[in-house]
Amino acid sequence: MFAEKIWKSGLSFSTFLQKKEMNEQKHEEERVCLNCGKPISGRADKRFCCSRCKNEWNNSLNGPARHRRNRVLGILDKNYQVLKMVLESGERAPELASLADAGFRSEYVTEFRRIRRGRDEYRCFDISYNKTETRLYNIRRVPELE
Ligand SMILES: [Zn+2]
Repeated sequence: MFAEKIWKSGLSFSTFLQKKEMNEQKHEEERVCLNCGKPISGRADKRFCCSRCKNEWNNSLNGPARHRRNRVLGILDKNYQVLKMVLESGERAPELASLADAGFRSEYVTEFRRIRRGRDEYRCFDISYNKTETRLYNIRRVPELE
């Protein structure tokens, strides 16, 4: 098998061995930690020099996504608080502008149902509402996720 490889390569035995060794060295050199760039030894599929580097790398990847998720959840939570206040106040058709002043962001919803033009239903968790250009109306609590 080995002899056949040498013969197929068309190289002399010593040149073949030299090349083989160089390739192996090169391969070894190429394996560096994805996080810190230090060389790694050991299993061929290892990508990090240590578990700390692995954690750091994963955190750096997940960080922005987690941050964004928390930001959106925060906005939805604020929307929910505003809608709850409206329900408790008994106001039937609050203006979007005044809701916005209270921190309501109408572009963030947890569910959207196209009923028909002007009757589309929006939800923030278990609070449902309809919306015109300027107001919310028909604000009510609904059972979650039918
Ligand atoms: Zn490392």
